[in-house]
Amino acid sequence: MTNDRNAIADIWGGRTPYGPGESWPARVDMHLAEGVTEADVQRWVRTASLLHSNGDAMDIAVRDGKIVGVRGRADDIVNRGRLGPKDLYGWQANASPDRLTQPLIRQGGRLVRCDWDTAMNRIVAQSKDLLGTHGPSAIAFYTSGQLFAEEYFTLAAIGHGAIGTNHMDGNTRLCTATAAAALKESFACDGQPGSYLDVDHADVIAMFGHNVAETQPVLWMRVLDRLAGSQPPRLICVDPRDTHVARAARDSGGVHLAPLPGTNLALMNGLLHEIVANDWVDHAYVQANTVGWAELRERVAEYPPDRVARICGIDAAAIRTAAGVLGKAQRLLSTVLQGFYQSHQASAASVQVNNLNLIRGQLGRPGAGILQMNGQPTAENTRECGADGDMSGFRNWSNDAHVADLAKHWNLEIKQIPHMTPPTHAMQMFRYIEQGSIKMLWVSATNPAVSLPELARIRSILGQERLFLVVQDIFPTETTELADVVLPAATWGEKTGCFTNACRVVHLSERAVEPPGEARADLDIFLDYARGMDFRDKDGKPFPAWHDAPSAFAAWAASTQGRPCDYTGLSHDVLRERVSGVPWPCNAEHPDGTERLYADGKFSAAPDYCESYGRDMVTGAPFEASDYKALNPDGKAILRAGEYLPPHEAPSGEYPLVLITGRTVYHFHTRTKTGRVAELQQAAPEIWVECSAGDARRAGLAEGDLAEISTARGAVRARLRITGVRNGVLFLPFHYGYWDRPGAEHSRAANELTQTDWDPVSKQPLYKTAAAALAKVPEGADPVVPVQPTRASTGAMQ
Ligand code: SF4
Repeated sequence: MTNDRNAIADIWGGRTPYGPGESWPARVDMHLAEGVTEADVQRWVRTASLLHSNGDAMDIAVRDGKIVGVRGRADDIVNRGRLGPKDLYGWQANASPDRLTQPLIRQGGRLVRCDWDTAMNRIVAQSKDLLGTHGPSAIAFYTSGQLFAEEYFTLAAIGHGAIGTNHMDGNTRLCTATAAAALKESFACDGQPGSYLDVDHADVIAMFGHNVAETQPVLWMRVLDRLAGSQPPRLICVDPRDTHVARAARDSGGVHLAPLPGTNLALMNGLLHEIVANDWVDHAYVQANTVGWAELRERVAEYPPDRVARICGIDAAAIRTAAGVLGKAQRLLSTVLQGFYQSHQASAASVQVNNLNLIRGQLGRPGAGILQMNGQPTAENTRECGADGDMSGFRNWSNDAHVADLAKHWNLEIKQIPHMTPPTHAMQMFRYIEQGSIKMLWVSATNPAVSLPELARIRSILGQERLFLVVQDIFPTETTELADVVLPAATWGEKTGCFTNACRVVHLSERAVEPPGEARADLDIFLDYARGMDFRDKDGKPFPAWHDAPSAFAAWAASTQGRPCDYTGLSHDVLRERVSGVPWPCNAEHPDGTERLYADGKFSAAPDYCESYGRDMVTGAPFEASDYKALNPDGKAILRAGEYLPPHEAPSGEYPLVLITGRTVYHFHTRTKTGRVAELQQAAPEIWVECSAGDARRAGLAEGDLAEISTARGAVRARLRITGVRNGVLFLPFHYGYWDRPGAEHSRAANELTQTDWDPVSKQPLYKTAAAALAKVPEGADPVVPVQPTRASTGAMQ
């Protein structure tokens, strides 16, 4: 069956019901340009989705050297042919007339066109000068979750290896840092334990701060098909908004819990309290496979439902009911995303989800798993390749033997790789730029001038005269406007490389068409820079030693040998031969990959093997090797307890509400791509604000009124939607910036309002707990915010 539905109106398409233990039926979704039929397509080129983390496998339709559509791949374990709205329509952004097609360089205060040599020579000259005068710490890299594994590995080798700077992070800090941190705290190593295939078996699916219906619509289709089949699962939803997931949870006989933002840890402790009090604990599993049980039991004993209900602003009875569903589940799948990750005490709360599955013995079996989800398509690669604060191959920064092992793979001296302190996280990097110690920042494939918190501060940091700013991207953005050099990049469909999705499935994404103008693959740009800098390995040979995507992948795979993310069984050719993507580890022992980690109770947590010794849950201070060896000598899973602390910024008389920011199914990140796709842009053309009927009435506002949302940092104007969000909470989508509305004078981006603060463990910024006020703007006062029909937001999509 091939399905070319209107995916704006019908986001998830028709149902293909299935029962527990059955395989998910295929349904092939396709969208071709108007007037093009399947018979017109000259080539189908293999890839996976770019505009979320699900990793939907698809083919690009090519005709006359142009992309003319996409089609899902029926045989792939991830999506069985299905595609979501951004998959089906997003490819059209590639052909936008305003792509960056030539390098730009700042001259006399203006960006002017130049050739590649001029642009690269300027970057190389600046880098050499800074290395000579200030050393490696003057240079920083801020990358993305949207490049390929080969590109991150190369960037990590250049930054951490050849230059030797500690300042490298990804915008994954904003979206998946807590996934990595929570896994490192519980399993001493990153790596997704579960699989999407667990949906096929689960009898309870619990989604913690995870609006999967909008963030991973194809994964939600899988859940919807289980709900429509025999013996459907019950759902638990934790979200202050009344989303599709929340409604489905209630309809399934499960529970929707809508805690106040910033209280997730208290809620999780309350749920665990009930599970322990009712002895829904798998003591044999806990005894054999974990450490930390006594401390966890004592901690959660302090959180009876009545106390938790007062903290979270929800019913104690609902906590008990939800705990009963979780406690009696035979096959429990737990998923987590931004509602927990971008919150106060993000890591401590997400770790309690791991604890829930661990004390219930719900891990490593079909249907029993944990999915600490990602936001971006290749966030997993950013982490495993070491282009963020992690070390390549999930090695341990605090273990000299691991650093030496990486140095051996790179053929560099160990002293070239900085490892005296943990790598600098993004929020700290921007602080160093503000203070002036970082003097050059190279941004690739991300738009911090819209996505980071407290934008007035970020603009002033990026706009400093003394900062040399390089921005490599596919479109002009709010960040390229501030750059000294702009490099035009190729994107998905125009270059070859590998993606790894949120459940470890590796897909090859092949080049289908030529990039526009002089745009170049990010890998080629990084390698050009390396040659320009004349980096050498310890034998005097050019570094990095690889020269294209297949050789970069081969170097990456070789460097993972024996590590938890072992890619040694994969190559571009192997991936080309397989009908489906392959979940790592994939090696001689597991040639077809590995569906679930920790199936046999063996963790990657032995002291000399683990990626992390853990951190203090309150301060974030890293533990020493000796602390870790004393706690976990046998390398078991770790039950880490967490004490609830109130958010730093509580509602006040002036700012009585709590602002959370989030996303819609139709847009990705700062809309640089999806805002250029007619279907997606028309579906959600303008920022809006959501509040409850009661809060609207108190502010004197009605549906569609123009509202001003303010915090201590600034004010934003948006049309009001009255939805089922809980009382006291405002919701703003964060996608909207200024590139397509220049007159908005910094009153449109949700991050004008968010705060410079982060979770102490993962360093992920807080986007969910800003104290805010809501007021009516008299009509006519701001002609810039039009009333536009839109399908986005939970109220409008039924
Ligand atoms: S929108 Fe946020 S969560 Fe989604 S990919 Fe971008 S940074 Fe991650």
